[in-house]
Amino acid sequence: MVRIDGAAVAAKVMEETKQRIAALAERGVTPGLAVVLVGDDPASRAYVRSKDRKAAELGLHSVKKELPADTTQEELLTLVGELNADPAVHGILVQSPPPPQIDEAAIVRAIDPRKDVDGFHPVNVAKLAMEDPTGFVPCTPLGCIRLLIEAGIETAGRRAVVVGRSMIVGKPMALLLMQRGPGGDATVTVAHSRTKDLAAVTREADIVIAAIGRPHFIGANHIREGAVVIDVGINRIEDPTSPTGYRLVGDVDYDAVADRCAAITPVPGGVGPMTIAMLMSNCVTAAERFGGMG
Ligand code: NDP
Repeated sequence: MVRIDGAAVAAKVMEETKQRIAALAERGVTPGLAVVLVGDDPASRAYVRSKDRKAAELGLHSVKKELPADTTQEELLTLVGELNADPAVHGILVQSPPPPQIDEAAIVRAIDPRKDVDGFHPVNVAKLAMEDPTGFVPCTPLGCIRLLIEAGIETAGRRAVVVGRSMIVGKPMALLLMQRGPGGDATVTVAHSRTKDLAAVTREADIVIAAIGRPHFIGANHIREGAVVIDVGINRIEDPTSPTGYRLVGDVDYDAVADRCAAITPVPGGVGPMTIAMLMSNCVTAAERFGGMG
């Protein structure tokens, strides 16, 4: 069994990204990333902090905008408009989930698609579906594909089952796996909460991608011998032995499944570090495309 080391692959992506940033510096361009947080959800705050820190580490121009929980839709739209117009900002993301008074879909649509480094804008969703490489692809599924490629796992002609159909993970993951080319060309099935006999469906798979949001949901009966398992899940469970009182676990019961897998990603240290690395990479891509265009 191969334990796929997401931290090592993420470090490689960060190194490549640094080189691309150095090449941009020679053109007088510093990539800029704006991260917007509305409200004070602790998990969102932690994500925003780590994105800001990684951006600063790489020498990006990092703009962190923290807005109060009672920010109105109009105020947020105004900020997005300002960031769209700011030539020093190449990538914009608004941390999800926003407070209930905010229409998240409308905010995503307001971001200039050329700065939508999360890949959530309808233009970028369409470009992914159309296999148009000028768009942006959501960071988590992009990171999963990179992990498969780096681990030398063949996807062409193999059966992949994606469990989860969210716009952030499941759907783009399925689109990427069915694309033509490296990390693609798989025969893809998408499962969700209405799928009948999920275990029978996932047991057919050479590659299982779990993006469900339920701790340890995928067990030994879901996975056939020799399968590859990519665990996207990040779930907090209580753990009295931990100083924080909780720990993070995936959607896959790693201990129950690992022995039968050809390869598997751990949680933490699998998909998680890739997401942030791909975000930095997408932001640098935005600067390569549009930096210096004013
Ligand atoms: P969502 O809640 O948006 O989607 C979950 C999906 O799982 C839905 O499509 C849902 O089906 C499906 N599902 C729920 N219960 C079942 C079930 N019993 N059987 C089969 N399918 C089921 O979550 P996300 O896609 O945003 O995230 C999924 C997980 O990935 C979470 O743990 C999240 O924390 C993690 N995550 C990790 C990231 C990382 O960087 N590693 C980044 C983003 C997310 P239905 O559509 O029918 O409701």
